[in-house]
Amino acid sequence: MAEDCDERSIIARYFPGTPPELWPAGEVLYYRDEEGRIVIREHPLELRFEVLEKVPSGKPVLCDACRRQIARHAAVFARAELPAGEGRHYLYRSFCADTQACAERAEPRYLREILARVILH
Ligand SMILES: [Zn+2]
Repeated sequence: MAEDCDERSIIARYFPGTPPELWPAGEVLYYRDEEGRIVIREHPLELRFEVLEKVPSGKPVLCDACRRQIARHAAVFARAELPAGEGRHYLYRSFCADTQACAERAEPRYLREILARVILH
């Protein structure tokens, strides 16, 4: 695929230590897949968060994507498996349960910070 030859892919492959803020900007995607997982993607990086059991009511939560305080009942906790290393490593994050509404206000830089864990891990 021609997609694999783009600048971002080359950096990911040959210069994996490059801080993400120095990468040429791509298009950050943030959506739910058909299985209900929360996907954050900026080619070639991708994280798929599996939504965990809801935690009973408590303090408001900060959404990691849009950085807003949200009520616990409107939040979901999710984990994504990081691709590197031996054994399994998970990245845990909180998000608005309404991914579509959250995506409209989430700034790409916050999504990139989450994605940065894929390489900085
Ligand atoms: Zn949000």
